[in-house]
Amino acid sequence: MRVPVRMPRHTPVAAGAMLVLSACGSPSAQSPLAVGGVTAAPGAVASGTLEVPARGGDNGTVIPVTIVRGRSAGPTLALFAGTHGAEYVPIIALQRLRSALDPATLRGTVIMVHVGNMPSFLGRTVYYSPADGKNLNRVFPGRPDGTLSERIADVMTREIIDRATHVVDLHCGDGNESLRPYTYWITTGDPKVAAASREMALAFGLERIVVDGTRPTDPAASLYLSNTAVTRGKPAITTETGGMALVDEESIALVERGVAGLMRHLGMRDDGPAPVASPIWIKQNEVVRAGATGLFFPAVAKAQAVTKGALIGHITDFHGARVAEIRAPFDGEILYIIGTPPISKGEPVAMIGRSK
Ligand SMILES: [Zn+2]
Repeated sequence: MRVPVRMPRHTPVAAGAMLVLSACGSPSAQSPLAVGGVTAAPGAVASGTLEVPARGGDNGTVIPVTIVRGRSAGPTLALFAGTHGAEYVPIIALQRLRSALDPATLRGTVIMVHVGNMPSFLGRTVYYSPADGKNLNRVFPGRPDGTLSERIADVMTREIIDRATHVVDLHCGDGNESLRPYTYWITTGDPKVAAASREMALAFGLERIVVDGTRPTDPAASLYLSNTAVTRGKPAITTETGGMALVDEESIALVERGVAGLMRHLGMRDDGPAPVASPIWIKQNEVVRAGATGLFFPAVAKAQAVTKGALIGHITDFHGARVAEIRAPFDGEILYIIGTPPISKGEPVAMIGRSK
C-alpha cells in the first residue's frame, strides 16, 4: 500500500460536549483513540462533535461523530453519512448502528460521521451547501482556509480519513433522485488498494457494482470523499441506497446489512452476512445531463431497462413548451432518474449503466 499522505495538523478542531457512554478499565491491546477532541477508550463508545470554526463571514458548523472502540486491535472503519444533506437513509441507518454496535465484542474501531454536511442537512438542500453553493463531494481533500464546504472536507480528511484503514461514504439518491441501490468501486490508483476496495464492495452486499475508472489519482485533488481515502492508500467504497428524501425501512436495512457484511469481511466481527454471490458489474455508465433549464418530466422509472434512443424524459420551459428531450445513449438500466421538476441546463437528469 502507498504510504498515506499526512496533511499538516493544526488545532482549530475542538470537541464539543463529549459523552462517554461506557468505559471498561480492563487491560487491552488498544490505546484510547482521539478524533478531534472526542476520545474513546478501548471497550467504550464516545460521541461528540468536531467543530469547523467560523471564518470569512460564515458561522462555521459542527460534525457529529461517534467512535466505537473495540477492546482488541483491528481495522479502523470510517462510515460517513450525510455528505449530501438530503440523503436521509444512511443518516438514519447510522443512528441505529450507534446503539447496535457493542465495543466489548468488536475488534478494531468504527468511526461514524452522523451528518457530514450539517449546513445542507439543516438547510434542506440537494447537491449544494446553502453556505457557499459548493458540492461537498467535489471539494476534497478540502482547504483549512477555504469556504465552509472546503473546511468541512479538510476536517473530515485530517481527523477521520487519515486515521481510518477503510472508508465507506454512505449515500443514497439525493432529495430529488429516484435511485436503485448500487455501490461504486474505484479502480484508479494503486492496484492493491483497488483490489481491497473490490472486496469491500462485494462484502457490502449490493448486487450492482459500478466500475469507476475515472477518479483522479492526485491526493491533493481527490475531489470525492471515498477517492480521498483511495488516493491516500486506503480501500474505500461509495454506496447508494434509497433516495427522494424518503426514510424507508428497505433501504435502511440494506445499509445495516452492508455494514454488517463489511465488519465480518474485515474480521471486526465473527457474524454478519456473506458477500454478494453474483455481482452485476456495471462496466459502462453515463450521467445524462439536461440540455435546457425548466421543468423535467421523467418518462422512465429507476431500475427500468431502456434501449438506445429510448425517451428518458423531457424538459419544458416555464410556460409549458417542450424544449428538450433526453434519450438513452445506449442499451442499459436506469440507476437513477431525477424525480422532481426543477432542472438547470447541465445538471444530471439520469444515470444509465450496462453490465456488458
Ligand atoms: Zn450523494
